[in-house]
Amino acid sequence: MKIFKVGDTQKAMCEECKSIQNATFSLRDVPFSDGIGTVKNVLVGVCNTCEKAILTPQQSAPAIKRQLDKRRKSIETRVPAHMIDILNLASSELGATPDFSFYLMKYYFHELSNDEKAVTSLAKYLENDLAKGAADKRISLKGTLIDWELKFIKDYSHLTRTTDVIKAIVLKINDDILVRPKPRRINQLKGLASTFL
Ligand SMILES: [Zn+2]
Repeated sequence: MKIFKVGDTQKAMCEECKSIQNATFSLRDVPFSDGIGTVKNVLVGVCNTCEKAILTPQQSAPAIKRQLDKRRKSIETRVPAHMIDILNLASSELGATPDFSFYLMKYYFHELSNDEKAVTSLAKYLENDLAKGAADKRISLKGTLIDWELKFIKDYSHLTRTTDVIKAIVLKINDDILVRPKPRRINQLKGLASTFL
């Protein structure tokens, strides 16, 4: 690995200038791509023309990863075994392997946290007979926004227990994909699933 010093230069593609530019390495606060938070004082190559950070050297990766890990939160809960089967079946319906279940849940977390109306009707899924059963399988979700998304969903659904939120989302997935397939949602998810093949 080549180690760069402050002041070193290298050519790099600048998306802003839409051309190859000279970049000078310097210490900057770089915002995360989702706009939430920044990595402070990290070495990046800055475009000499437009001043945008356009190059992240390998040596800066551990510092960035540390900041990202700090933001990653996780949610863990237990659900009845058939809930995992539902997620696996839904993934299969989307042309993906069971590994996709995790992303499917994250997708719904994210979608719901932007959709007050859908969240308010989430509790009704718990009236389904499938909401019952001994909680003997573990579900764990990780993500930088997962805490915040969970809080939003709890606030608007009036579900106070994390496990109820997870169960309701699994049963919504069951409904959307397997029971009463929603073509638009399914197409969107197939597109997403294809990127994990
Ligand atoms: Zn530029």
